[in-house]
Amino acid sequence: MRPAPGAGTRKANRKMILPPDPSSGFDWSSHNTYSVNPLHRHSEQRADGALVQRHLADPRRRLMMLFGDRVLVKSGRLDFEGSAANALFQETETQIFLGLDLEGRPWFAGEFKNEPELEPGETLVDLRSLARDALVGADGYGPVAQARATLFWHQRHRFCGVCGAPTVSIAAGYQRNCTGCGTQHFPRTDPVVIMLIQDGEDRVLLGRTPRFEAGMYTCLAGFMEPGETVEDAVRREVKEESGIDVGAVRYHASQPWPFPANLMLGCYGEAISTDIKVDKAEMDDCAWFSRDDVKAMLQTTEVGKLHCPPKLAVARHLIEVWAALK
Ligand SMILES: [Zn+2]
Repeated sequence: MRPAPGAGTRKANRKMILPPDPSSGFDWSSHNTYSVNPLHRHSEQRADGALVQRHLADPRRRLMMLFGDRVLVKSGRLDFEGSAANALFQETETQIFLGLDLEGRPWFAGEFKNEPELEPGETLVDLRSLARDALVGADGYGPVAQARATLFWHQRHRFCGVCGAPTVSIAAGYQRNCTGCGTQHFPRTDPVVIMLIQDGEDRVLLGRTPRFEAGMYTCLAGFMEPGETVEDAVRREVKEESGIDVGAVRYHASQPWPFPANLMLGCYGEAISTDIKVDKAEMDDCAWFSRDDVKAMLQTTEVGKLHCPPKLAVARHLIEVWAALK
């Protein structure tokens, strides 16, 4: 049974220190990998087919090319121009307009149908390695997250879910219409709640799944379900995975997570019970960690020793902000 928010808490008189409120105007999300997107999407231009064609013919256009969860990279860049890039882009099957950059140059992304033959120096890099190894500039991750999520949606919506007829891409790649019944289909984002649960001021709940590398503990997380609020999703997932009841929940920051099309909703929450019951079907372990424990884990990168997730994860951001409070 879900506890009423903030009601009947066992430690109603104990204070939970929360990180600064996002409503203070500071954009915590902008600190996260895949969050910085310098492109103006210009959604109002997508329906103007002639304008999109002019953008596509613009010699200054920048081209991003993906094959599944990998993106073409050369010399620290994932946006290309020139005749060789133009020829390679012709091999892509689905093409989408990403927007205009600060210099007014149009950016497009395309998805290869078959694995392309690459020139020396070109590599296809998976998006996790791209971020972990910082292979491109910080402003490249937002556009590639936008491209991957949208192109993945195209792959999975080639046929209408209503009548089964083929669909076709329109609106510069932001809509597919059914050729049979005319239903309009739009790109999807799958929200995931990820939360750092605090017990009083000085300890937090972290867990690990069997697929994590040895020693890594992180925030609990899970997909939101239809018809559910962010706060209820946090309470449900924490209860399911750890047995802990959660009262107050507060949103902190979000992160596009292109694996393939998620939006991570980072939250803090207040525990109103303390006895952990680990869901062994899903989790390897859940435990309370003190602030000193967490500070030591943030300094450790060695597999096998207790440590936190890498910088690219919003979970690390949530943990770092909390650890720095005292
Ligand atoms: Zn249809």
